[in-house]
Amino acid sequence: MTQYLFTPSAAMSLPVRGLDARFPINRLFFVGRNYHAHAVEMGRPVDKSVERPFYFTKAPQTLTLSGATVAYPPETRNYHFEMEMVVAIGQAGFRVKAEDAHTLIYGYGAGLDMTRRDLQLVARDKGRPWDLGKDVEQSSVCSEIVPMQGVVIENGAIALEVNGQTKQSSNVDKLIWNIRELIADLSLFYHLQPGDLIYTGTPEGVGPVVSGDQISGRVEGVAEVALTVGAPA
Ligand code: MN
Repeated sequence: MTQYLFTPSAAMSLPVRGLDARFPINRLFFVGRNYHAHAVEMGRPVDKSVERPFYFTKAPQTLTLSGATVAYPPETRNYHFEMEMVVAIGQAGFRVKAEDAHTLIYGYGAGLDMTRRDLQLVARDKGRPWDLGKDVEQSSVCSEIVPMQGVVIENGAIALEVNGQTKQSSNVDKLIWNIRELIADLSLFYHLQPGDLIYTGTPEGVGPVVSGDQISGRVEGVAEVALTVGAPA
């Protein structure tokens, strides 16, 4: 048995609907600007004819199960919600053709890409990495994983409320790069592995939360996600 100097971090995992076994997490990928109306509200419209998707990653340790209460994070005054559909990868793949992309899909979740918007925008505008804005402790919220092997979701409402008030309401048919295109493109750069999650981007309507806020969201036909924002850390 391997001896460690101190106890290693536990492997991250999510419950799977209908199963006792959990879905172990490998990597967390996030797609930037993947709904036109959100790209416009960020001041960076997308022209798909001349652009490719882009990505950022967060440490798996940022994963937080839906239903949690998380502390308002440090060093921000503008902590934002982003409601996203999450694709759970169940098969390895590299340089996957779009028409074969469904073979990598294990299932889906409903997720939140919580973001220190003030720090993200400073980083963006200075040409710095986004990590301090995005790789926030407890910021990658996800529901249970819903098994849908080989299913490519092409439409369905995606919505989010804060304290019962609607903030985001769109449809995943508005993804600029759809699920097949994302898996094909991301697999040019990475050997996708079982346990990888792809947060597919947020629609318009992102905004700030404060301590005490209750966030609830859903992807139609997949799952709901909830988060309570606690007192500052
Ligand atoms: Mn996002």
